[in-house]
Amino acid sequence: MLVYITTVCPICHEEHEVGVYQDDYLRWCDGALAQDAFPYLNANEREMLISGICPACWDEMFSFDDEDEEEDEPDYEDELREADLEMGFNPYMGGYDYDC
Ligand SMILES: [Zn+2]
Repeated sequence: MLVYITTVCPICHEEHEVGVYQDDYLRWCDGALAQDAFPYLNANEREMLISGICPACWDEMFSFDDEDEEEDEPDYEDELREADLEMGFNPYMGGYDYDC
């Protein structure tokens, strides 16, 4: 049975739904890695489950790199990314009856 998990992107605050099998979702709640529990999701969908960050915002974050190729501050973007991930680590989950 598929359940739809609603995530809210911490950057653009848009809601997205990711469909996963209920059994897999429960395994993930028990501590399985997202890539093991949901092998059928693509990286974007897994990322939305984990951090809530939607593909459009990921693209935006990575296009940062492409605009110019200066490497004066090699760690700065990585730190930003980790901060965002931490902030978004508890995506709002709604639309169905299962709690982790
Ligand atoms: Zn977004």
